[in-house]
Amino acid sequence: MRVLSLIFSLVVFVIGFFTPTQSATSSEQTAVPLPPRPNILFIFSDDHATNAISCYGSKLIDTPHIDRIAREGSRFRNCFCTNSICGPSRAVILTGKHSHLNGFIDNSSTFNGAQPTFPKLLQQSGYQTSLFGKWHLVSHPTGFDHWEVLPGQGDYYNPVFLGPPKTDGQAATKRTIEGYVTDIVTDLAIEWLDRDRDASKPFLMMLQHKAPHREWAPGPEELDLFRDVIFPEPATLFDDYSGRAGGAAKQEMTIAHHMNNLDLAIVPPKNLSAHQRARYEAAFAHENAALLRDNPKGDTRTRWNYQRYIANYLRCIAGVDRNIGRVLKYLDTTGLAKDTIVIYSSDQGFYLGEHGWYDKRWMYDESLRMPLVVRWPGLIQPGLVTDQLVQNLDFAPTFLALAGVKPPADMQGENLLPILRGESPADWRKSVYYHYYEFPQPHRVPSHYGVRTLTHKLIYYDAMNAWELFDLVKDPNEMQSIHGEVPSQSVFDSLRAELSRLRTAAGDSTGKSLPAGQ
Ligand code: CA
Repeated sequence: MRVLSLIFSLVVFVIGFFTPTQSATSSEQTAVPLPPRPNILFIFSDDHATNAISCYGSKLIDTPHIDRIAREGSRFRNCFCTNSICGPSRAVILTGKHSHLNGFIDNSSTFNGAQPTFPKLLQQSGYQTSLFGKWHLVSHPTGFDHWEVLPGQGDYYNPVFLGPPKTDGQAATKRTIEGYVTDIVTDLAIEWLDRDRDASKPFLMMLQHKAPHREWAPGPEELDLFRDVIFPEPATLFDDYSGRAGGAAKQEMTIAHHMNNLDLAIVPPKNLSAHQRARYEAAFAHENAALLRDNPKGDTRTRWNYQRYIANYLRCIAGVDRNIGRVLKYLDTTGLAKDTIVIYSSDQGFYLGEHGWYDKRWMYDESLRMPLVVRWPGLIQPGLVTDQLVQNLDFAPTFLALAGVKPPADMQGENLLPILRGESPADWRKSVYYHYYEFPQPHRVPSHYGVRTLTHKLIYYDAMNAWELFDLVKDPNEMQSIHGEVPSQSVFDSLRAELSRLRTAAGDSTGKSLPAGQ
């Protein structure tokens, strides 16, 4: 009996020893206690597509500093926004609630700063909170011990910054800082960490870049990058929009027809100093002279526009990445790195010529997908990559949870902590809900809502009572809707039911209701 028991114990030991890494890692990680009150550094940009980040497989650019965050932490391959446009995505991130509940449904909205937000809740729990850069929510920021933000979209060069009023109820204070916006926002953030940080408290900093938002004006340090580089064109640059429901053919966001001379750097931004202007014009002089001389037409001109647009977009990204490197270096040299969670994300994706477009808005993957990389020394296993479906809706409850603050019951997102620990929760969401409102202006993208799973996407265009259904495995570029095809009927039926369920779960009755039939 005793021998049998010994053999049994040995077998259990051996099986335990050879248990697959995932579950061993998982149980070990569950046992690791959360570090007490880590600092949270949320670095955020505007319109940065994953196709322009090298750790996401970009064929266009190297982004070593963003890649470093992913390499030393985690990378989310399926992070999606709930409403692909600047202000609404920011409001979702702050509140952990969908647009119809936080009230900021499109860029003509004004954010209600009286509602609960994660910075406010962190501040109340003892965090020192700060915000620098692009805000874009119209009302003054609330929940920050210090803030300094660009008014509206802000300027790339010599930007004006708004700061807290001297007395409550007064207008924001205002100052103009000479230089390039991505550098300046980083300077302000590092200055605050260096001079104003209260070492007795953990901090939350939101460091939010304007770049690479339209009109893609690169800074002086990046103006000469990529000269004479010919970038690869996306396979769908000359999309004819057949195979879709009709909305895609009627938008006004093409590289071929809807870019102006400022977008294309044929003229420089208006507010440059004489010295900056001379530098800027010199950088493009040769190419612009050739354009005037050759006067290309049709597809040749579209290709020229694409090359000019993408080069300047990527130059703006290079400026963001270089400045992320400055911040990471600051954390390293001060020893803050070990106690600081660093997150990099952007408010939505962007079209880099796919479907012939720039801009965002659509539920198609290029604008739906957000970059999300997170570094947390000691907790996240370096190099973690996850395909779990996550959303910007999850950021607020996650940031609260990792600070040990219980998220309010009416926050709609999920806490990402289990995924950051390398776990694969069996009950994790299997679909995400999306709702876009801003129509018809400025780009004539019809309002729509829909559901995406790991393999399929169903979109209902309530503005035009039309459906699109995509098989993302067979058709990742979303060129051929299979809605209405007999073999796809069961997929449609189940996704339609899931979309209806998601609308109810989110409490969303905005937009036109789902039609009874198909
Ligand atoms: Ca944006």
